[in-house]
Amino acid sequence: MVRLNEVRPGELVIDLPARTDAELYFIGRIHTPWTDRLACPRQGRPDGPTCRIELFAPWDRGLDSIAEFERLEVLYWLHESRRDLVMQAPKSDGNGRGVFSLRTPARPNPIGTSIVQLVEVEGSSLLVRGLDCLDGTPLIDVKPDRTLFKPLAPAQAGDFQVGDKS
Ligand code: SAM
Repeated sequence: MVRLNEVRPGELVIDLPARTDAELYFIGRIHTPWTDRLACPRQGRPDGPTCRIELFAPWDRGLDSIAEFERLEVLYWLHESRRDLVMQAPKSDGNGRGVFSLRTPARPNPIGTSIVQLVEVEGSSLLVRGLDCLDGTPLIDVKPDRTLFKPLAPAQAGDFQVGDKS
């Protein structure tokens, strides 16, 4: 759902609070082929175009050892998104849905995430496939894909299981 200022039937706009809490560091910039939100894929694909994630100094020092991982999780700030739509209507049928049931870019904190394939580390940049964001999107974080890690502790009796009602 890509819109600029339209509010559809079934949607709810809220008044945003005046103050914010966290101070994020934009640690880099993402370079992609897309300059128009309508042209961006809805989700990145592993066979999508190679994009460049540029890390700014001094955070580029943190790229040490990253080449050990074939897949990375990238977090970015969807800087052109509106932040005040708590009910959204992805289709034009007037049926609103809560923002937290959607992967819409319009969120209170417009953080996007993608699992990307690492193609190459090139100086202070990562060449990756699997992104879906606009050229110039600010970078928040990069970490190894969590599925590459084994759980730290074996499951134990009494642990919560997906599907538990309690
Ligand atoms: N993969 C991420 C996720 O699931 O968290 C983002 C998914 S979101 C549906 C992707 C869409 O966000 C793109 O198709 C584009 O319309 C929009 N978008 C991409 N970059 C953006 C940016 N910097 N600011 C605002 N919207 C953006």
